[in-house]
Amino acid sequence: MAFAEDECLPISALQHFLFCERRAALIHIEGLWASNQFTVEGDHLHTRVDDPSASENRAAAKIVRSLGLCSLRHGLVGKADLVEFIRPPESTDVEYEIHVVEYKRGKPKAKLDLPFRVQLCAQAFCIEDMLGYPVTAAFLYFGMTRRRVEVPLDENLRQTTLNTIERLHALIATGKTPLPVYKPRKCKACSLIDLCLPTAPRPRTTARTYLQSLFDETE
Ligand code: SF4
Repeated sequence: MAFAEDECLPISALQHFLFCERRAALIHIEGLWASNQFTVEGDHLHTRVDDPSASENRAAAKIVRSLGLCSLRHGLVGKADLVEFIRPPESTDVEYEIHVVEYKRGKPKAKLDLPFRVQLCAQAFCIEDMLGYPVTAAFLYFGMTRRRVEVPLDENLRQTTLNTIERLHALIATGKTPLPVYKPRKCKACSLIDLCLPTAPRPRTTARTYLQSLFDETE
């Protein structure tokens, strides 16, 4: 099944969804947004690298920055920070090697975060759909260490990414924002905490259910 253009969701929504489904819904159903230190630092890093005019031509490689991405098959739109198109030595039968690179603030952890890996894999899906060539390698570049770490685009990650895309679209199609599940470490790092109010008391039932229960008690 292919999506219509206006049904496409930003690739970044996958990251929000894996971090917290309510966060993805607050942003993509309710249209809310707020920044914090982490989002500002991330934006700053991307502003430095998102310059399409800085694309480079070298003899054996073309480097494209801030490449616009779209896949109607997956219902996704977005941007790749950097894509390298490399012409391998004539002896190989691969026509081009394609590398996709996503910039992240901070430094790599021992186990790379799943949301980062899924975001990168979704970018690879878009490039593969747009160009018809496989993406041969994917990397996360960390601003603090100035190092690239390769993310294997293996079958496991591809399947996890497909499932996440499907679940994200299903959530957005409901038009309903899930209730918060307060997790102190996660919520304190979330830029939407003051809009989400994860610790505020909430009625467990709707008004209709409450009124019906009053009558049920007297019957
Ligand atoms: S504050 Fe917590 S529950 Fe609310 S959107 Fe953020 S992570 Fe999710």
